[in-house]
Amino acid sequence: MTDLSGRTVLITGASSGIGANLALAAASAGARVAVAARRADKLAALVGEIEAAGGTALAVSMDVEDEASVIAAYDAVEAAWGAPDAVIANAGINVRASALDIAIEDFDKILGVNTRGVFLTAREGARRMIKAGVEARGRVLLVASIGAHKVLPGITAYCASKAATAHMGKSLAREWARVGINVNVLCPGYIRTELNDAWFDSEGGQKLVAGFPRKRLMDTSDLEATALYLVSDASRAVTGSVFTVDDGQS
Ligand code: NDP
Repeated sequence: MTDLSGRTVLITGASSGIGANLALAAASAGARVAVAARRADKLAALVGEIEAAGGTALAVSMDVEDEASVIAAYDAVEAAWGAPDAVIANAGINVRASALDIAIEDFDKILGVNTRGVFLTAREGARRMIKAGVEARGRVLLVASIGAHKVLPGITAYCASKAATAHMGKSLAREWARVGINVNVLCPGYIRTELNDAWFDSEGGQKLVAGFPRKRLMDTSDLEATALYLVSDASRAVTGSVFTVDDGQS
């Protein structure tokens, strides 16, 4: 297991699914974990679970669509622990609708959370790291999707948002290499979470899984090793890379 002792990691979208699991994993690897999202009750329960297991966690309210909220969340983390050493920009949404039918408000919302929100989270994190002088060990991990490089049926806006996020990660990596902050992108395959739970019970969802080479969904724990490595000191020479972890789905 990667050692994250002495590191502060902020994780967005930590109130459920992948983000919640990465928070638990980072805490058991020794990190102080700031868990960010909008649902305070879920974050409080997660903090309780981490603390009960002997870890250290802090819940911060953050709406990644709102820059003032992103800034206020970083302020809260800094007040408690100083600037984070690592940020996992994981918050994301999806709306399943064909390109012909999707409401343009939904299109904007998907891009707003998955791309603009990831940018706001990453940029504010980098600003804090630079100001605090922690950038030599600074890590930013953007969570995209296999939809960044594979056409997934019925979710054009989602795929567009994730492709933009993956490319943005490579661009940020180039820009921030000179200040010492590493930026990488994680592209998970399908995992059953709140994001897609109902869909996997549908005929379309079941057909999709039946077509995977291993005929199964992944588990959130399948992402832990890669994600923790990418926010650790061990990944010091890794930046601008896109990591697909998808059990062969794409
Ligand atoms: P969940 O729906 O379980 O989690 C999404 C998280 O994002 C929640 O914690 C939610 O918290 C948060 N969130 C949504 N909108 C906002 C917002 N405006 N501001 C702050 N937080 C927000 O889904 P997953 O765990 O599956 O998704 C996590 C990431 O992984 C997403 O980026 C998703 O696209 C990506 N992914 C998921 C895959 C899958 O198959 N599950 C596959 C590939 C990528 P709250 O509502 O409390 O704010």
